[in-house]
Amino acid sequence: MKCTKCDQDAIIFTPYSGSHLCSTHFINSIERRVRHRIRADGLIMGSTENSPSQWVIGVSGGKDSAVLTYILHNMLDKDPRVQLTALTINEGISGYRDESLEVSKKLTKSLGIRHEIFSYIDEFGIDMDEVVEKNPLNLNACSYCGVFRRNLLDTGANKLNADKLLTGHNLDDESQTALMNFLSGDVSRITKHFDASLAPFSQRITTEFIPRSKPLRDIPEKEIALYAYVMDIPFYAGECPYAVNSFRGEVRKLILGLEDNHPGTRHSIMAGYEEFAAIASSHHQSHKESSRQHCIKCGSLTTQKICQKCVFVAAVKSV
Ligand SMILES: [Zn+2]
Ligand SMILES: [Zn+2]
Repeated sequence: MKCTKCDQDAIIFTPYSGSHLCSTHFINSIERRVRHRIRADGLIMGSTENSPSQWVIGVSGGKDSAVLTYILHNMLDKDPRVQLTALTINEGISGYRDESLEVSKKLTKSLGIRHEIFSYIDEFGIDMDEVVEKNPLNLNACSYCGVFRRNLLDTGANKLNADKLLTGHNLDDESQTALMNFLSGDVSRITKHFDASLAPFSQRITTEFIPRSKPLRDIPEKEIALYAYVMDIPFYAGECPYAVNSFRGEVRKLILGLEDNHPGTRHSIMAGYEEFAAIASSHHQSHKESSRQHCIKCGSLTTQKICQKCVFVAAVKSV
């Protein structure tokens, strides 16, 4: 099959747009979507040569964050308005994290990007291997780890003076989260998701949280994997040994099935979700502002007296 745009052989067909693309046009199309997303979200707005923005990229070593780092570096390396730093969280999962850490280091070194690593053991005094072994609250590993990671990404980015925190979530991740939020009937979760990482920066309410952004969220997972392969970007393909999220797995299957029969489903889920979330968010504004406070133990922003991270850490340490 030939490329829709030139006479080279196509390497991919994307049913949702009806195009066959050769490697050159495929690469262009990925990078164009990232640039477009950065513009649409107003990510660079307000940054100048004299007061450059500090962008911290959450780098796990997986394909998504590797591709994000690579594209942002190529796009912004010569742009004096933005400085990039990679931030990796070391959860303390033997085997898995050691390998992905090596791959992350290799990537940032080859690009010449500053790379900082923050670990659960240094910051909280416990690591995931210990958490899983003790499991004081009888939860799955991801419930602890998600809370710890969000907290440490925020504190870490703060220590690095970040203006923005960027993560590699793709279209599949985001449409799964969107549908999961709908299916659980949790409107406050929808508004949180929107406020924290989807709303354009001009519409964000100023908070002490570092604003997040997901520049790859218009791009399907498969295309990110193909981009990494075509550009020969090093990444770690292993899965976390503790990962169990059967609900996300079910939703993933459901969406991929719908996508097969109705190409464009992921895009339309997100378009409708964002419009709905914007309305829900403006409706919930006053409530959100008043409920935020600082954790009395660690100072993190939270809606309770003691933040969830401190509750979990104390529970593990009490065993
Ligand atoms: Zn072409
Ligand atoms: Zn706390």
